[in-house]
Amino acid sequence: MTFLLPMNGTPWKAAEIPLTSLHSTSEAIMLTLTSLGGASTVTGSKHLLTNGDKRILIDCGLFQGLKNLRELNWAPLPVPPSSIDAVVLTHAHLDHSGYLPRLVRDGFRGRIYATAATRDVAELILKDSGFLNEKDAEYANRKGFSKHKPALPLYGVRDAERAMAMFTIVPFQDAFELPGGATLTFRYAGHILGAASADIEWGGRRIAFSGDLGRYGDPLEPFASGACTPRSCRIDQVRILPLT
Ligand SMILES: [Zn+2]
Repeated sequence: MTFLLPMNGTPWKAAEIPLTSLHSTSEAIMLTLTSLGGASTVTGSKHLLTNGDKRILIDCGLFQGLKNLRELNWAPLPVPPSSIDAVVLTHAHLDHSGYLPRLVRDGFRGRIYATAATRDVAELILKDSGFLNEKDAEYANRKGFSKHKPALPLYGVRDAERAMAMFTIVPFQDAFELPGGATLTFRYAGHILGAASADIEWGGRRIAFSGDLGRYGDPLEPFASGACTPRSCRIDQVRILPLT
């Protein structure tokens, strides 16, 4: 499976994968996966899963790195944030969670589903990110080096606080029903505290979003106990793996 993500112009159009072709029956399936980031670049992870008029966003990361990547954070999403029913967050790193405050600022009103530890780590990271965005804008205005008058932050601390109020905690290894009839199961992914792979069953299909994975034998993570490894999670359709 090849993802393409043009870096200029319209960054969203080339990564849509209709999941119908993966099924051998003639049953009409409308499940579609669109990569909005985290493809052809390792940051900005956002995967939009669509079933009819229902939309679930898996991860909501910031583009980071060189200026041409960071500028992608200012491009509007191809769908209105208000039309997204839920966000599933695999872990709290900024390249997977850092766009959440902006998504909320732009109209998202659903819930954000994450493990308890991911929620706690995300609170630290997102508030800090909002603070730094505000300080960067203040500095640019004070020094007058931005072409924007005034320079504005992508989001601020208040936006991060609003996003934090929208979290719903989902335990590891339990099937959990999402809006629109999808079923989410978080499985241990190692990597950082709270990190999970998101196993989603929807419309008769099962899709695993690995998120970032830890290593085998890490004494701090349940990987070490053999509770779940990438190979032991039985997935019969598609695995979405990070490029790193
Ligand atoms: Zn990560």
